Amino acid sequence: MSHNLFETFAAKMRERAEADFITTRDGRRYRYADALTISAQLAGALTELGVKQGDRVAVQVDKSPEAILLYLACLRIGGVYLPLNTGYTGDEIRYFLNDAEPALFVCRPKIEEQALSLAAETGCPAVVTLGSAADGSLMETAQAAVPREDIVALGERDLAAILYTSGTTGRSKGAMLTHKNLASNAKTLAKAWHFSADDRLIHALPIFHTHGLFVACNVTLMAGASMLFLPKFDADVIFEELPRGTVMMGVPTFYTRLVQDERLTPEATANMRLFVSGSAPLTAETHEAFEAKTGHAILERYGMTETNMNLSNPYDGARRAGTVGMPLPGVEMRITNRETGAEVPFGEIGMLQIRGPNVFIGYWRMPEKTREELLDDGFFITGDLAMVDEQGYVHIVGRDKDLVISGGYNVYPKEVEQVIDELDQVAESAVIGLPHPDFGEGVTAVVVRQQGADLGENQLEEEKVITHLDGRLAKYKQPKRVFFVDELPRNTMGKVQKNELRKRFNDTYQ
Ligand code: ATP
Ligand code: MG
Repeated sequence: MSHNLFETFAAKMRERAEADFITTRDGRRYRYADALTISAQLAGALTELGVKQGDRVAVQVDKSPEAILLYLACLRIGGVYLPLNTGYTGDEIRYFLNDAEPALFVCRPKIEEQALSLAAETGCPAVVTLGSAADGSLMETAQAAVPREDIVALGERDLAAILYTSGTTGRSKGAMLTHKNLASNAKTLAKAWHFSADDRLIHALPIFHTHGLFVACNVTLMAGASMLFLPKFDADVIFEELPRGTVMMGVPTFYTRLVQDERLTPEATANMRLFVSGSAPLTAETHEAFEAKTGHAILERYGMTETNMNLSNPYDGARRAGTVGMPLPGVEMRITNRETGAEVPFGEIGMLQIRGPNVFIGYWRMPEKTREELLDDGFFITGDLAMVDEQGYVHIVGRDKDLVISGGYNVYPKEVEQVIDELDQVAESAVIGLPHPDFGEGVTAVVVRQQGADLGENQLEEEKVITHLDGRLAKYKQPKRVFFVDELPRNTMGKVQKNELRKRFNDTYQ
């Protein structure tokens, strides 16, 4: 039996040939039949350009339906799709080309010259361009190439993609994901979230991360559903499209923006059946506000580049604010003590580990890191701290690397952030640990004031924050300093870049 994920997709594509797969607001429309034909043409182009089974195809392009057809073409021929963040600059691209040694670099037309010289420098043999309007040399090559209608037979450990992690805690790592990994998760999610051919997904996420690429697209393909591709999140456009959509997947910042909008009503969301959130924590406040305004409880799930999705709130049953639900079918979880590695008793915080057919097979060319994080018994150390509550719902407490150890005591930033956020004058906060001569690390809060709270005599000051915490949190958890900033540094997925905050305030106690 071949493990090529495209086999499963192709069956659905034939069945749904006349139905829409991807549409855009400017009137482009790809039916499933088109996806079959064009992915075969692109597979032909890849072959002509020298891509063979197992070769990496590095892709740094603006979001477009063609980029997804290119991903499908890679699957067909057993090529390894390697998408890159469009924000990466020359030096970063050089690093990835050196690291991944792709057989082909697909770039945006506007950086073609730079791409050619980077390719020459790093030994990448071929470069083609793909623009967001289906322009560029790749589509031309595809039209002229002999189509490849075949689907290469693959084994259990053959790679479908190398996806780089977001780089929130350090340099991005290339996660090697097999066809089997992706297939198992897509099947599981389509079922868990009740996806069907009638669904129309509003897709406003980037497609170089697991959320917008695998969660959104693979689930759509599994179900034979359709997607509306939007270049980015724009509230005006979302409100226009909600009456024609059934599902939206978003990062928490999508939802924090929607709840502030007076257009968010039960009527505006009446056609929608599901709102999914992930990639970063959704605050309980946003979850509750969204439900109050629409009647929809956002379904929060938890996953990562290395594993796809692991935990999810239930489709049927309570979706609990501030939690990520429970393990998906086929996914095992355990929570272990940071120091001893032993499983912690129920209700205690520890390191979250995951095992299942969704778990990647290792980091690309990082055998040591792979050995450290992927244990012999198959469990992967996620790097996140978690706790299971009495109802069996998992709470993500934060990243292990963000844990603050002050005077020998563990301080979980999220616990402190939640209490700070109770203040009306606070929009959001981030708690970090900074080098401290006496305590090892000093608990430090970085706070964004609510609009209007930065004016007049009611101005929120350091003092007020500390006074608020006094009596609510043990002394050792209270920040030694509170700083105010206009906004927290975030990446494209809405993740707070605590590394940057630590760098910026590093010398506070020294
Ligand atoms: P790097 O591994 O390079 O430091 P990263 O971990 O941010 O970056 P991703 O794989 O994109 O890279 O993100 C996965 C992480 O995102 C998880 O480990 C977790 O910390 C966070 N995350 C995802 N979903 C949720 C969620 N629902 N709640 C809280 N955190 C989440
Ligand atoms: Mg990570």
